[in-house]
Amino acid sequence: MIPVVRPYLPDRRKLDSYIDKIYQSNQLTNNGGLVKELTSRLEEYLGVKHLLLVNNGTLALQVAYTTFGLGAEKCVEEAITTPFTFIATASSLKWQGINPVFTDINRDTWCLDPKCVKKGITDRTRLLVPVHVFGNGCEVEELEKIAQQYGVKVIYDAAHAFGVKYNDRSLLAYGDASAVSFHATKLFHTIEGGAIIFKNPEDHGYASEIINFGMTKDSNIESLGINCKMNEFQAAMGLCVLEDIDNIIAIREEIFYRYKKVLTDWVGFQVLNEKVTMNYSYFPILLSSESEVVSVRDALESNGIFPRRYFHPSLDTLNLPGFDNSHCDISRMVSRRVLCLPMFFGLSNSQVDTICSIVKSALSRTPVIDQPCF
Ligand SMILES: *Cc1c(COP(=O)(O)O)cnc(C)c1O
Repeated sequence: MIPVVRPYLPDRRKLDSYIDKIYQSNQLTNNGGLVKELTSRLEEYLGVKHLLLVNNGTLALQVAYTTFGLGAEKCVEEAITTPFTFIATASSLKWQGINPVFTDINRDTWCLDPKCVKKGITDRTRLLVPVHVFGNGCEVEELEKIAQQYGVKVIYDAAHAFGVKYNDRSLLAYGDASAVSFHATKLFHTIEGGAIIFKNPEDHGYASEIINFGMTKDSNIESLGINCKMNEFQAAMGLCVLEDIDNIIAIREEIFYRYKKVLTDWVGFQVLNEKVTMNYSYFPILLSSESEVVSVRDALESNGIFPRRYFHPSLDTLNLPGFDNSHCDISRMVSRRVLCLPMFFGLSNSQVDTICSIVKSALSRTPVIDQPCF
């Protein structure tokens, strides 16, 4: 069985040595030594400041919204986000009492189109939540210009953007905050986990109280908090995975280009923002129609290979309370035609070759040189 993603398991003895430390310290959670160590190692590795570890990526988003006082007003507040993403981007908003408003994506990069964002702004808009989808950087300068013009915050859902650089600087350093997911299936993981990277130290300080019931350093309660602290076992896993991350990315890069070499001319690809580096977190292909997606998926599944339709359906088609039903045609089109092929450390060259040949034979057409239909 070949899944679309498989969690990376670090060397068992290395993990044991961190667990020994937990047994020695007898501290399992509440900002322990390993959480502190992982915080500073991640800040150094990513080239960011003001990083706050939390227990998952969804709460990273929710705490980020709360830090800026969003969702606390009595009137309806809106956030503009993309419909081409995982449900948590939008559901996290609704859980904070903010209505997600979907505006369309760019047909090549699959990230929010700043022109559409601008059109979607109303007097209820408080926030933009763009997603660096599949690790591709949004047009951060354009988006932040719009945010400044309208006096709204920008919080990136950077769940896929671990380690990505934009103009030689960490992509995670853009916006008022960026939220990252360290779920087991993500490029870098802590089993479950996440982080918020803040632009300002004051916001980081306030958020570190929010994640611990709203308690200040002297145990006063001055704000409405929640519990979403990372624990020491999660941090132990993170420290082990971080030691191997450069190797993990290098292996994924090889897989990426092996796929790409064979499938070029057969399928379309996401167009990379010219200013970003890649982290090879996913391998999405664009087919010419939904029926091609279904036949390729079925052919792979009948061989024990399980690709995933990330992200389908487009969130603007969902009928959830508070979700707007805007018609994001490009997102709907991309969402119907994208299929993510297996991509993880440990996927062998011969498995990649097998997947490619099944994809090609399932397409039952000739290659599309120049990709006119894409
Ligand atoms: C994984 C993911 C999340 C949620 O992260 P969790 O750590 O699983 O809570 C949010 N947004 C996107 C785009 C994701 O892919």
